Amino acid sequence: VEEVVLVRYGEIGLKGRNRAFFVRRLEENLRRALEGLEGVVVENRFDRLVVRPASSPQEVVERIRRTFGVVSVSPALRTSVALESIERAAEEAMARALMGKSGATFRVSVHRTNPRFPMRSMDLERHLGSLLQARFPGLVARMKDPEIELAVEVREEAYVYTEVWPGWGGLPVGTGGRAVGLLSGGIDSPVALWMMARRGMEIEPVHFHAFPFTSERSKEKVVAIVEHLRPWTGQDGLHVVPFAEVQRAIAASVSEPLWTLVMRRMMMRVCERIAHRIGARALVTGESLGQVASQTVEALHVIEAVTQLPVLRPLIGLDKQEIVRRAQEIGTYELSVLPYEDCCTLFVPRHPRTRPTLDEVEQAEAQLPVEALVAQAVEQTEVVRSKETVTA
Ligand code: ATP
Ligand code: MG
Repeated sequence: VEEVVLVRYGEIGLKGRNRAFFVRRLEENLRRALEGLEGVVVENRFDRLVVRPASSPQEVVERIRRTFGVVSVSPALRTSVALESIERAAEEAMARALMGKSGATFRVSVHRTNPRFPMRSMDLERHLGSLLQARFPGLVARMKDPEIELAVEVREEAYVYTEVWPGWGGLPVGTGGRAVGLLSGGIDSPVALWMMARRGMEIEPVHFHAFPFTSERSKEKVVAIVEHLRPWTGQDGLHVVPFAEVQRAIAASVSEPLWTLVMRRMMMRVCERIAHRIGARALVTGESLGQVASQTVEALHVIEAVTQLPVLRPLIGLDKQEIVRRAQEIGTYELSVLPYEDCCTLFVPRHPRTRPTLDEVEQAEAQLPVEALVAQAVEQTEVVRSKETVTA
């Protein structure tokens, strides 16, 4: 009897060669997620992946669950399809599930794909059910909502398990191309980046930092958010763009009600440059329609007019409540609400334009040395990694 972890992935809509591509990527991502755990092996078996943890299956399960593309995970016992081996594995799995308790309601469910196995599924269910009741007299059979469901899959080998842990679904990171993600220290953008990573995108986070208007601490907070998202995104680098110079120039030459819009346009321009450099094909932001003055549809139009790249806004139709709930669920909320100064919050016009036109914004930029500012900001961009994660 061998300890393994069964990894189930989504299949809906994945066909043919596409499917092989997804599974191969998932396999690679799992290997990366499990790096540093001695002796772990990932096998590609039938319609799922099987991981053999050398030790600490709990840690292995936790890491696998956070890998996008994984629908569910079960720590399982693997044996040959000899009946005595299956019996022994079933007893062992039940003993573990009971955790010292003397009784529980239970059911055995058998799923058989191996045509050479001599018993029918129902017969094996009955056989194992009475065997387990004889061995653990406190067990009571119950078909509907039992406390313990002992599952047996009879394939080339047999798998026995009692637990099914949900994953986060989605598609393996790397199957959806690469994007630049605009990451502030706020509540929204971490959720937006997480959502696009869940659709398989590799996200390179970019943060605009207005030192000395904003402190070193506010940058570290964003680094901490990147680090927190890493189990899902696989990403540990943050592009930090110095933005104070741009803000000074905007304050000096642009009329105040348009500051935010021009600033966001400058961000888009810088991000597009970075995107070309790293082979990214889209920009991701945390904008949500109507949330603030710069998120009206007129404002969004003016902001994205400076880039050829698609601007992906996964939060566009969500309520703040829903975004907050998701942020809490993935654990970024606690980091986001830490006090910090965003480059933008220090730079909010008293009466922002909510229905800007492209013409007026383009005119407002006429006195701004756009190209020089963008080139300099890109030039001075640094990639920062969390100190704990720096490897060779
Ligand atoms: P968030 O909660 O993500 O800060 P927000 O509701 O505060 O969003 P804005 O401040 O208008 O919205 O910013 C809109 C989007 O622009 C953000 O979601 C983010 O994608 C991007 N953005 C804003 N500030 C920065 C920054 N300092 N660095 C990188 N991206 C930023
Ligand atoms: Mg913000």
